[in-house]
Amino acid sequence: MSAMPPPLLKMENVTVDFDGFKALTNVSIGLAPCALRILIGPNGAGKSTLCDTIIGRVRPTSGKIWFKEDLITSLPEQEIVRRGICRKFQTPGVLPALTVMENLLVSARKNRAWWHALTTRVPPAEMRRAEEILEIVGLTDRRDVPAASLAHGEKQWLEIGMVVATDADLLLLDEPTAGMGPQDTQRTAELIHSLIDRHAVLVIDHDMSFVEALNGYTTVLHQGQILKEGSVADIRADAQVEAVYLGRAKE
Ligand code: ADP
Ligand code: MG
Repeated sequence: MSAMPPPLLKMENVTVDFDGFKALTNVSIGLAPCALRILIGPNGAGKSTLCDTIIGRVRPTSGKIWFKEDLITSLPEQEIVRRGICRKFQTPGVLPALTVMENLLVSARKNRAWWHALTTRVPPAEMRRAEEILEIVGLTDRRDVPAASLAHGEKQWLEIGMVVATDADLLLLDEPTAGMGPQDTQRTAELIHSLIDRHAVLVIDHDMSFVEALNGYTTVLHQGQILKEGSVADIRADAQVEAVYLGRAKE
């Protein structure tokens, strides 16, 4: 029998305590290379904290995190990023004065200062990959416009493209559909599916229509604890999950 491949990411019994408030309690999650994982939960459930903890912005009070078999729990954020984890924040962070293509190139050439990234010649392979990413995120015809002139959804897609351009093995997408209409949300789900041939993706959201369109293995977080894990259909059918969501909706 062949051994199970080692997971790309492993979180074991992670607890985060903010001065007595437990934002996460004994959370364990494993993620294989090129896997898709959805993380949902009501506001304040601890989703963003979980992301912050993976990338080293927040330190667990207890528990361990491994990435590619190395313990990363106490590494500095920059070092964790260097090892291949990239995070997209809830709020768009594109450089508005630069064009769509320039934003991608700056992100791909993350080791260099942006002015250097733009004034040195871009190797053909790097340019081809950037064009490919433009295609994936559906912004090929917006290539040369300043990022400032993009519509809200397009900005979000550019940001996803920038995360992809870093070529990190694990992409953390925190609420990539924030502020989007149903059509853009659907399009974002398709876009994310086209990423998992090269990257593992952890997607955080609380919009059930988006989660259904993504249709992957889902972890439900509630008050800092894992409430349920399974397919979207399993999650949909779970009375406890429904109570948590309906409970929130009534407030
Ligand atoms: P979510 O992303 O699921 O909406 P968060 O992870 O942002 O939730 O927050 C989880 C809980 O932890 C919230 O109650 C929030 O107020 C609290 N929290 C988050 N960051 C901090 C912090 N730095 N200090 C104290 N409390 C925090
Ligand atoms: Mg959040």
